Amino acid sequence: MNLAKFPRVRLAHLPTPLEPLPRLSAALRGPEIWIKRDDCTGLSTGGNKTRKLEFLMAEALAQGADIVLTQGATQSNHARQTAAAAARLGMDCHLLLEDRTGYNHPNYKYNGNVLLDVLHGASIEHRGPGLDMNAEMEAVAERLRADGRRPYTIPGGGSNPTGALGYVNCALELLGQLVDLGLDVNHIVTATGSAGTQAGLITGLKAMNAQIALLGIGVRAPRAKQEENVFDLAVRTAGKLGCPGVVVREDVVANTDYVGPGYGVAADSTLEAIDMFARTEAILLDPVYSGKGAAGLIDLIRKGRFTSGQRVVFLHTGGAIGLTGYTHEFDVASRA
Ligand SMILES: *Cc1c(COP(=O)(O)O)cnc(C)c1O
Repeated sequence: MNLAKFPRVRLAHLPTPLEPLPRLSAALRGPEIWIKRDDCTGLSTGGNKTRKLEFLMAEALAQGADIVLTQGATQSNHARQTAAAAARLGMDCHLLLEDRTGYNHPNYKYNGNVLLDVLHGASIEHRGPGLDMNAEMEAVAERLRADGRRPYTIPGGGSNPTGALGYVNCALELLGQLVDLGLDVNHIVTATGSAGTQAGLITGLKAMNAQIALLGIGVRAPRAKQEENVFDLAVRTAGKLGCPGVVVREDVVANTDYVGPGYGVAADSTLEAIDMFARTEAILLDPVYSGKGAAGLIDLIRKGRFTSGQRVVFLHTGGAIGLTGYTHEFDVASRA
């Protein structure tokens, strides 16, 4: 495996910190919990999409694109990081935002990621729920081509084999940090959505024969579907890297018990996780992804799935800017 042969533009502050969470670990009385701070990748409030965009935007530049297109939910962290990356590289950016939640709160529609999309100069189109958003985006790209533009389309979440290389790179970075610190880790836990993060991580871990179990906590799809999506992308990513067969189906494990009412809608356990991380470690999670990932981590510790004597790394994938789009979930008025 040779990641250096793929074009890459530097967009992220790397390596991201790997830190212990002593107060959270003590509160849960389970394993020693560490956190990998991919919320600190640095581009326009950070997050996991920046690692993927290092490889995706390099491909866009290599193809001579003058505008990048992508799609996501209204409060998409991926859309915001893509808008920021495009601004940084002097390219135009066009976003298709899907109303996946039906929320009409002004903060949801205009604050958080949407505010930053606008500040980075992206143009925005909206779509109702339930459409094939990648097909919608390809139709817009066709229109742009007819107008003489050179669009580069990025699938939702930046999850294709090119984007997943960013998380192969994260696996290598994390393994290096563990060696430096002399830390033996049993499990890595992270939120999983469009699958690129988990697929890239498992490909990198398996290619390095790391023997660390990876658990994805789902935010949308049912378990079988999520695992199938991750495995399919991991297989294609391993193929791109020249190490086919390195990931087997059993390596891909997702738990989708913490989705709650649906994508982009917080469950009680999501809000509890946000509260707990903020109060014990001053770490901000988001209601769509990292809050659900952390809810899974917390509940599985309580259920004895991870135990004292073990060491777990929680990969923080970012998203906290979305909190300002979700003020309706927090009883601020009565407490401030
Ligand atoms: C996109 C996203 C995820 C999920 O990553 P995928 O690669 O889409 O599975 C997790 N957390 C945050 C904050 C995200 O924006």
